[in-house]
Amino acid sequence: MSIDVKAYIESGDLHRFYTCAQWLRLRAEVLAEDKYECQFCKDKGIYMRATIVHHINHVRRHPELALSKYYIDDNGDRKRQLVSCCDKCHEEQHPERMKQNKKRAPITKEQW
Ligand SMILES: [Zn+2]
Ligand SMILES: [Zn+2]
Repeated sequence: MSIDVKAYIESGDLHRFYTCAQWLRLRAEVLAEDKYECQFCKDKGIYMRATIVHHINHVRRHPELALSKYYIDDNGDRKRQLVSCCDKCHEEQHPERMKQNKKRAPITKEQW
């Protein structure tokens, strides 16, 4: 992989990852595969248009999975690493960011 996500994190410049061509292409691919439908709402039987592609293993903790569609869990099963979701579900996926948001708005939502 030609971009160094770990270096972006270390330099506090993760925004560069979310604006790089590789991520934007992968993101568009995942949204298309999910038919622009929020997968968390879908599980609850609700249709909601997806606006975000969420990393199940957060980028900051797992930079090696930043551009990976799947990951292998502890049981050796292949799971989805990238999931399309709506704003609301995405917030629920990042409770650790909620407090910070009150103080300071993120530059882009996807910087989460
Ligand atoms: Zn949702
Ligand atoms: Zn996320």
